[in-house]
Amino acid sequence: MLKFKSFSSGSCGNCYYLGDGKDGLVVDAGISLRRLKKYLTEEGMDPSSFSAVLVTHDHLDHVRHLGSFCKRLKKPVYADAVLHEALARHTFTRDYIASCRALLAEDGETQAGPYFIRAFVVPHDATRTLGYRIRTPEGTFVIMTDVGRMTDEAVAMAREADFLVMESNYDVDMLMAGPYPHELKMRICQGCGHLSNDEAASALRRILHPGLKEIFLCHLSENNNTPALAYESCAGAVRDYVKSHPGSVPVLRTLPRQTPSPFFVLG
Ligand SMILES: [Zn+2]
Ligand SMILES: [Zn+2]
Repeated sequence: MLKFKSFSSGSCGNCYYLGDGKDGLVVDAGISLRRLKKYLTEEGMDPSSFSAVLVTHDHLDHVRHLGSFCKRLKKPVYADAVLHEALARHTFTRDYIASCRALLAEDGETQAGPYFIRAFVVPHDATRTLGYRIRTPEGTFVIMTDVGRMTDEAVAMAREADFLVMESNYDVDMLMAGPYPHELKMRICQGCGHLSNDEAASALRRILHPGLKEIFLCHLSENNNTPALAYESCAGAVRDYVKSHPGSVPVLRTLPRQTPSPFFVLG
């Protein structure tokens, strides 16, 4: 049985679990190990019931606690060579990452237990930002948390997904009318920052396919979005798709920012 849980999603910190409850993968280390262990224990799980950590990129909301994960857990930390070089220099990870360094295959998949992991690069203003396609015995899971703009490769990966986690960061009107300085607004919306609700919805129109069962919208902005706005944008895409593909009804959800989501059973 494949399960997915978000422990925290957004600029406050990112950390996600995918696995069967006994073994699995953690994506990003944006919450403390103490919190992660508490949440896993509350689910009745062994707090060390994952065998590796995947890193999406070197922004603090994704790696703030990776150093302590490495120091205390000593589990493999997967990234590509470019991201690992950045982590080896990063103030928060450089003293601890070497002993956990696990390189992803440059081409093709890397096997970790029953999971086959393939990274793909997405545009974002970090040293390197990776999305992941993870093939599991129960289906294919794709996660892309910080996406400046959708690429053909990211769409192609997502079109293989049975279960998709995709950013829907901001509402354009809220961002533009909001208090952020002009430079920060431009940083967010000009292709190397984050994906707007509208961009997520138009990407989803390209991604939707008969096998897609679950869509989780992640990394919602606290200041420039609401769960209802993010949901409604992509719900329009889902409704249109269902009209022309009766019988296939993907489930759409938004992930909470600072609190854990339920444990979703996928498939
Ligand atoms: Zn982020
Ligand atoms: Zn980022």
